[in-house]
Amino acid sequence: MVKKSLCGLTADEIFDLIGPSGFTAVHAVSITNSIYKKSISDISQILKIPNRLKEELFNIAVSGVFLPLASETSTDKSVKYLFRTDSGKKFETVYIPDNKRNTVCVSTQSGCRMGCSFCVTGRYGYKGNLTAGEIINQIIALPQAKKVTHVVFMGMGEPMDNLENVLKACSIITSEWGLAISSRNVTVSTVGLMPGVEQFLKRSGCNLALSLYSPFPEERKKSIPVETQYPVEKIIEIMKSFPVKKKRTLSLAYVMVKDLNDTDRHLVGLKAILKGSAIRVNLLPYHSVLNDQNCSSSDERMQYYKHNLIISGISASIRKSRGKDISAACGLLATGFQKY
Ligand code: SF4
Repeated sequence: MVKKSLCGLTADEIFDLIGPSGFTAVHAVSITNSIYKKSISDISQILKIPNRLKEELFNIAVSGVFLPLASETSTDKSVKYLFRTDSGKKFETVYIPDNKRNTVCVSTQSGCRMGCSFCVTGRYGYKGNLTAGEIINQIIALPQAKKVTHVVFMGMGEPMDNLENVLKACSIITSEWGLAISSRNVTVSTVGLMPGVEQFLKRSGCNLALSLYSPFPEERKKSIPVETQYPVEKIIEIMKSFPVKKKRTLSLAYVMVKDLNDTDRHLVGLKAILKGSAIRVNLLPYHSVLNDQNCSSSDERMQYYKHNLIISGISASIRKSRGKDISAACGLLATGFQKY
């Protein structure tokens, strides 16, 4: 019999597993609290359950909590971790401390099949989806697990290409019986896989961030191939059709590349596609990938964009680059840890 991994199961699923032997929903929640809040990886250490239940669990389950293989720390204190599953899938996770806000950037796939031109993960190729447990483990297995306040799904992989596992991971992160992190502090990014975006907005209360790159379809297609199948205009229409809730933020991530997508023409295009929406814009510096002649827009240019968006009634902010020296910044995951 293949043993179930407890990490990645909901409280209801654990109850389904142990209920037939006479254990209760309260026992199930004791198990989820031990795994998700205390990062307990040894079944014998699970709190507030009888020994008979521990013995039963040994026979049918494993904790599913596993440690990273390696780590690298940036001068800005961000830490990149490498994980490897039993089946050999490798993926990276980044911990980003910032005063009281401590964010974990999780991967949803080993590699990615979207092939975006500006992203090293895309060049690494697609090695497989991560399970909900493998996604959650990237938070609870970190030495800083107890300090985590925010989770972003912006690591390796396109989350909407692994939708069911991402939705389940979001539910475990935000549930009281899980990690109990507010959905307001959980953001999932996408390049715009339309069927997934629709489902995600219907079935999750977490934030959504759409990577734009260019407001013009012909240009966007060259960098984000999925634009050919799912035009960004349609994705934004879907986002606009979901009423803004206090607890949820819908945003556009706009990576700014000097002279390529930071012209006045692009600014006009950006404002046009956002007209009449409450979608906010996060402006991000570009990180050059190998053999790439492009470079990031200047700070002044980014400030100019921010100012112009704000005076047009569009909420905008500039995001700092973190972990660039250890290839942990956006679009750079999969460039390190060569010896593993
Ligand atoms: S930007 Fe995102 S969707 Fe595109 S290749 Fe990289 S990881 Fe995949």
